[in-house]
Amino acid sequence: MKRIAVLTSGGDAPGMNAAIRAVTRCAIAKGWEVFGVHQGYAGLINGDFRQLTARSVGGIIQLGGTMLGSARAPEFKNEEGRMKALWELGQKEIEAVVIIGGNGSQTGAYAFSQMGFSVVGVASTIDNDLVGSDITIGVDTAMNIALEALDRLKTTAASHQRAFLLEVMGRNCGYLALEVGIAGGAEAILIPEIETNPEEVVQIFRRAYERGKTHACAVVAEGASYNAEKLAAYFSEHQARIGYELRTTTLGHVQRGGEPTAYDRLLASRLGAGAVDALDRGETGVLVGMVKSQVTTTPLSKVVGVQKPIDPTLFQLAKVLDT
Ligand code: ADP
Repeated sequence: MKRIAVLTSGGDAPGMNAAIRAVTRCAIAKGWEVFGVHQGYAGLINGDFRQLTARSVGGIIQLGGTMLGSARAPEFKNEEGRMKALWELGQKEIEAVVIIGGNGSQTGAYAFSQMGFSVVGVASTIDNDLVGSDITIGVDTAMNIALEALDRLKTTAASHQRAFLLEVMGRNCGYLALEVGIAGGAEAILIPEIETNPEEVVQIFRRAYERGKTHACAVVAEGASYNAEKLAAYFSEHQARIGYELRTTTLGHVQRGGEPTAYDRLLASRLGAGAVDALDRGETGVLVGMVKSQVTTTPLSKVVGVQKPIDPTLFQLAKVLDT
C-alpha cells in the first residue's frame, strides 16, 4: 500500500478544497492511505500530519480557502528545513507528496523532488502565472468576482459621471486584469508585462468624456508600473483635462474568498485526480495542469523560473474593443 501526503501552499485559491478532496478520494480508491499536511511547508517541517478519509473531505467541494490551511514557510527554502521535512515524512513512512499551489510553492516542490523524494505539483493560483497549465485552479472564480465588481462600479460611475480605477491582483502577471478588462468592457487595462504611459490613459478617458460617455473604467494589475495608487496620483494633477471625477477601488483579498465556480471545482477535481494518476504511473518532479483541455504533466524543471507570456492578441483586442 502507498502512503501519500497532500498539502496546500502559498496564496490560497478557491478550488483548493476540491483538489484536496479529489486527491484523497482517488488515492483511497486505489487502496492508498492519505495524510493531510497542515499549513503548507511549515506543517511538513513540523510533522503536522493528519490522516484523511473519504468522509473527512466531505462537504468541502463548495468551500473557498483550504481546509488544510496554507502558509508561507521561508525555512523550506533552506536545505536544513527540507531535510527536516524529509525526516518527518520518513517517520510516517510516507512515500510521496502532492503540492497544491502556485509559482513559489512549485519552486519548493522542485527543490524537494531534487532531494530524491517523490513529488507531484498541482497548478493552483489565481495569478495564472504557471507554465504547464493554460489555466490554474482559482483563476475563474477570481475573474468572476472581479468582473462583478467592475459591473457594479460601472453602474454607480455612470450615475455620477465618474471614472474608476479598479485594481486587481497580479504582481507579475496581468492575466486577471486583461481578461476582466475585456469581459467587463474597461476603457484601459494596465498590466506588468506592458509599459503604459499614464498620459495615454488620461487621453483615453478624455476622449470617452468628449464622446459623451457617462463613465470610464481602467482595470489595473497591482504589479503594473503604474498601479492604481500611482495612477490616481498622476490623475489628480490632471483632473481638469480628464473631465470625470475619479475614484479608486482596490479589490484585494475579496478576489480570493468565497465559493469556487463550477469551472474551478471541475478543474480542481480533474487535476487532483491527475496527480494521483501521475504518482501511480511512477512520475515525480512534475506539475499536473490543464493544457489544451487535457490533464497533462510537465517536468517542474520546465516550469520553475519560466515566465508565462500573456497573449498579445488579447491586449490588441482590448484596445480595439475600447473604442
Ligand atoms: P505561491 O505558491 O502562491 O506563489 P509563495 O511564493 O509565497 O506562494 O511560496 C509559497 C512557499 O513555497 C514559500 O513560503 C516557501 O515555503 C516555498 N518556496 C518558495 N520558493 C522556494 C524556493 N526557491 N525553494 C524552496 N521553497 C520555496
